[in-house]
Amino acid sequence: MISKAILTALGIPEAVSDYCHQKERELRPAFQHIEEIAEANQAKVLAAFQKHRVSENHFETTTGYGYNDLGRDTLEAVFAEIFRTEDALVRPQLICGTHALSTALFGCLRAGDELLYASGEPYDTLQGVIGIRPEMGSLADYGITYNQVELTPEGLPDPEAVVAALKPQTRLVGIQRSKGYLVRHTLAVDEIGSIIRAVKAVRPDIICMVDNCYGEFTEAIESTEVGADLCVGSLIKNLGGGLAPIGGYIVGRHDLIERCAVRLTAPGLGKEQGPTLGVNRSLYQGLFEAPSVVEAAVKTAVFAAKVFGDMGFAVYPGPEEVRHDIVQTVTLGDPKLLEKFCEGIQAASPVDSFVTPIPWDMPGYGGAQVIMAAGNFISGATIELSADAPMREPYVAFMQGALTWEHGKIGVMKALATMDVLK
Ligand SMILES: *Cc1c(COP(=O)(O)O)cnc(C)c1O
Repeated sequence: MISKAILTALGIPEAVSDYCHQKERELRPAFQHIEEIAEANQAKVLAAFQKHRVSENHFETTTGYGYNDLGRDTLEAVFAEIFRTEDALVRPQLICGTHALSTALFGCLRAGDELLYASGEPYDTLQGVIGIRPEMGSLADYGITYNQVELTPEGLPDPEAVVAALKPQTRLVGIQRSKGYLVRHTLAVDEIGSIIRAVKAVRPDIICMVDNCYGEFTEAIESTEVGADLCVGSLIKNLGGGLAPIGGYIVGRHDLIERCAVRLTAPGLGKEQGPTLGVNRSLYQGLFEAPSVVEAAVKTAVFAAKVFGDMGFAVYPGPEEVRHDIVQTVTLGDPKLLEKFCEGIQAASPVDSFVTPIPWDMPGYGGAQVIMAAGNFISGATIELSADAPMREPYVAFMQGALTWEHGKIGVMKALATMDVLK
């Protein structure tokens, strides 16, 4: 229990705290399922560390060209083990999820090829990479064409429509697991598998790539276990466990990882180069802690769904739904309430709690202004408790993360307190 004095210090009225604690009690059964998944993933990670004999010398650093970085190479083997893939590229030189996805797409595609997205509109920054939104150096700029198949009205994959959209020049099918800035169903690993099986049945040559951002460790298996050739994500989201200061990963088939590596570095260099500049220890420790950090984030998301959903706000997914990513949407329906929600999340942060977030023109998110609440240890790390939203109808907050469940809970209480809507 939090004492009255501390609640006052945090600016959380007792009525808010009482209401939220009641909601927490109602969630106990839902939390048990989340804990079981975390346990399975913790065991999987530990087994991978032990099999690859992770040792203190792997935390050493390299500089310059980074030849023979044993820590880096072993970490890649550990990632490949966890994802059950032939190979992995896990690098601090991959700056973010967009960069890792861009590297994978440019690595695999050549002029004249077509990229087909099987999950509807891709994440905002990817639209620039692909050239849906004109950007210098996009895939379109290099003569790579694009097509997309929408999810069904229920938000489910449509494998038949994907197969019907395949052309002789289709080279890669992209599947985005999480919702991005859309209020849609997040794809379960099983549902991703249904798309891949349909594609491979008619065209085994096509590369199936999954944008795994925000989905890692929310289930006990990853999409590479249901046939994905490549799976891509960011280390300042789930798999960095809040400790990785930078990085992205690409896991999958050996021949494809080679193609991605020469795109990241240079033809002829590939995986051989890439110094780790002292970050290995954080990448290992972050990966080790990731199952329990993801558990905290999923509990926080479910809790927010319960707290705001029971007050009448539209929340997606609902509190009882099984999760496939860490993102929770809360539809505020009003720009002022949306700003207050984000203000509350920011005010509950361990860092920069005194700052007021305001909407701005964020690079890569062409169009609407974006408001972001993130009082972070690692700049922009959305595995830490954060909320962001494009300032457009119907004013939906996308919140995610929390390094600990206890902090996530306080963050949600503070958002509610700042909105000042509890009657
Ligand atoms: C976060 C995210 C990305 C990549 O974003 P970065 O900010 O570049 O790491 C890509 N796809 C989805 C679905 C995401 O959620």
